[in-house]
Amino acid sequence: MSVIVASDLDRTLIYSAAALALTMPDARAPRLLCVEVHESKPLSYMTETAAELLTELGDTAVFVPTTTRTRKQYQRINLPGPPPQFAICANGGHLLVDGETDRDWHARVLARLADECAPLSEVQEHLLRTADPVWVRKHRVAEDLFAYLVVERELLPEEWVKELAAWAENRGWTVSLQGRKIYAVPVPLTKSAALREVARRAGAELTLAAGDSLLDADLLLAADQSWRPGHGELADASWSAPGVRVLPERGVLAGERILREFLHRVRAPR
Ligand SMILES: [Mg+2]
Repeated sequence: MSVIVASDLDRTLIYSAAALALTMPDARAPRLLCVEVHESKPLSYMTETAAELLTELGDTAVFVPTTTRTRKQYQRINLPGPPPQFAICANGGHLLVDGETDRDWHARVLARLADECAPLSEVQEHLLRTADPVWVRKHRVAEDLFAYLVVERELLPEEWVKELAAWAENRGWTVSLQGRKIYAVPVPLTKSAALREVARRAGAELTLAAGDSLLDADLLLAADQSWRPGHGELADASWSAPGVRVLPERGVLAGERILREFLHRVRAPR
């Protein structure tokens, strides 16, 4: 039996320069480790202390990176610690086992989506028709499972996001706004469903989770104990639930705190 630690990555454990939210004088800033390079440029960071904590965690629990990223976007992240046996990508659409996608799991996900929600093409068409090029920078489809837009956040009308969320809800889809990205994701495509599968396969006695966005809420609810940082979509909505601890830290220091909490819980007597 083992402890499963399923954590969101972006703005939970790893942070872009824009999301670091460092507030101390520069001379007292923590040393940062770059854990993702994209197009030959550094993109994501964690503190060096967080990197050490993550290595310890990987040695003592089943650490499961749990992300909305596509497999390709996930695979360019270079996390410290032992290579994870399991990773959850595409918001649960792909379960990687020793780095390879599990075909049975993916087939089950596709069957469920076909049964329970409107097709991706309908959502894509709606986004293309209604999103204003004034504030949309890119239209993207991820793994043929869901869609997202990259937007100019300052120009994005709040009203449009609300209308999109209502339109999507009627079709079995959900909307999440994270930084410069607006995601439209099928309701049944969840991190929690994939976590339950990992817990079943690994024979989990305890599951822990952390995340910052609306797409993490089901994950936080599914785990025995969860944490969320003081920033992000859930914090903006003052979201909480029994079993979810709200941390005061914001930005890259929240990532460090979350890892400390994981380790503390893993080591606590059960
Ligand atoms: Mg996140």
